[in-house]
Amino acid sequence: MLLARPSIEPNECLVSYLIRISEKNGFKHIGHLMRHAGLAWKNNRVPVHQILIGEFDLNVYLLQLGLTTFSSKIGPISKSFQNVIDTHYLIVKYPKVCPDCIEEFGFCRFEWSLLPYLACVRHGKLLIDIHSGTGKRLSWYRRYLNKFDDTEVISSLSNVAPSEAIKLSRYIEVLLNGRKGVSCPEILHGLELRESLSVIHFIAHYRSRLLDVSFQPLSITNGELVQHYQYAWTMLENWPDAYYKFLNQYLEHPMSNKGVGGLHKHFRDLYESLHRQSENKGIARIKVEFDHYIEIYWPSVLESKRITRIQLTTLGRNIVSRKEAAKILNCHPDRVDKLVQQQKLTPNIFGGKKHYSREQVEGLAIQISSNWTMDEACEALQLTRYQLKQLLDAGILHTFQRPDMFNRDWIVDKVQCQEMIASLCQKARKNTPPSGVLSMTSMQRRGYSIVRLVLAMQTGQIEFGQLYVVDHPLSFKQFTDFSLI
Ligand SMILES: [Zn+2]
Repeated sequence: MLLARPSIEPNECLVSYLIRISEKNGFKHIGHLMRHAGLAWKNNRVPVHQILIGEFDLNVYLLQLGLTTFSSKIGPISKSFQNVIDTHYLIVKYPKVCPDCIEEFGFCRFEWSLLPYLACVRHGKLLIDIHSGTGKRLSWYRRYLNKFDDTEVISSLSNVAPSEAIKLSRYIEVLLNGRKGVSCPEILHGLELRESLSVIHFIAHYRSRLLDVSFQPLSITNGELVQHYQYAWTMLENWPDAYYKFLNQYLEHPMSNKGVGGLHKHFRDLYESLHRQSENKGIARIKVEFDHYIEIYWPSVLESKRITRIQLTTLGRNIVSRKEAAKILNCHPDRVDKLVQQQKLTPNIFGGKKHYSREQVEGLAIQISSNWTMDEACEALQLTRYQLKQLLDAGILHTFQRPDMFNRDWIVDKVQCQEMIASLCQKARKNTPPSGVLSMTSMQRRGYSIVRLVLAMQTGQIEFGQLYVVDHPLSFKQFTDFSLI
């Protein structure tokens, strides 16, 4: 039996309560107390985490010690974290405390064992978890509630905690007490604790990756955790602008120095994470802004057809640089700029650099290579450059591109030329030509320019025959034996 049997305080942390009992009865630490109560764990260890989340039945041992029983405050909250895909980080690994509260009230509050509870809202100071001089961690196995070791009293920091840390702690406290009308950034309105914490951890995680480190909330100190949470809270307070700025930073830090490829990987990775956790209302809210951002600023990075989880690992990149675009188009990079001026390519300007949709560039490359240059058209149609130019100027033959201040080349619509020749072939007479028919050259001498001739052939004002030309099936020279009606 115990000499001193303190009773638990309404908001007391269970493990803190054990430390108090242990201290008042002269045990070295809670391990010895628990052994005395009948727990036979190796090296006098205590299942601290399980006690905090209410998984371990402490009441059996408390009865042994002649103490009244109670249940864990964190238990129900912790359980809600296990129901859905969420952050797994809720409970601290090492204790953190407010020395001022211990001095004033004589116990540790259960909120302090929650990871996002950073600062004491009563005293406005960050919680303490390491010794400022030695860097030693505060332990669950300490002899005294208010001391690091047998002599060193835990002292509070002289500085006031950052306002974000206090706001976050107050927000957590209000949520825990189930009160409504909590003051928080708008994006967190109506979210449960697990959802809000998922949002904060999501941002902290991706920000750490941006800085090439990993976010390990359980092993870092409260002071370090404050840096991460402070950043996330500020972003949430300036939502969504700050989130957009955050996403822009990916441009300066593309993953694994792969440039735009790394950027794609970042965004796909983000997308996949958001997608996987979209059942979580908090994560779903981030996804809305992520989708919005991509749609506005970086439209082709995640083509809709590629936004399936399986295809997200595809190696083909949807965005190409100016140089890559020039390579695809087999032209000088300057030409790419001209295509932009002609509105044939749409640049996505990002971080001062222009990028292009691969689909658009390839589409343009296909259009160029599958149509005719001026020379190719002359050769296929067996026309002089002068004649071809006349037909193009009259709009009888179509172009995709004419020389202008941006380019020197013509792109003649091959399919339309083929169709026009086919249509003339159909109009050609099928019976024997009458006497007195004229050749194309004779027609021209009679004032029929190539344009006038073709128009007359199309409208049936003149009759003509057709001779098949093997080498040049699209040749204008296949039309002969003209006769005026
Ligand atoms: Zn305090």
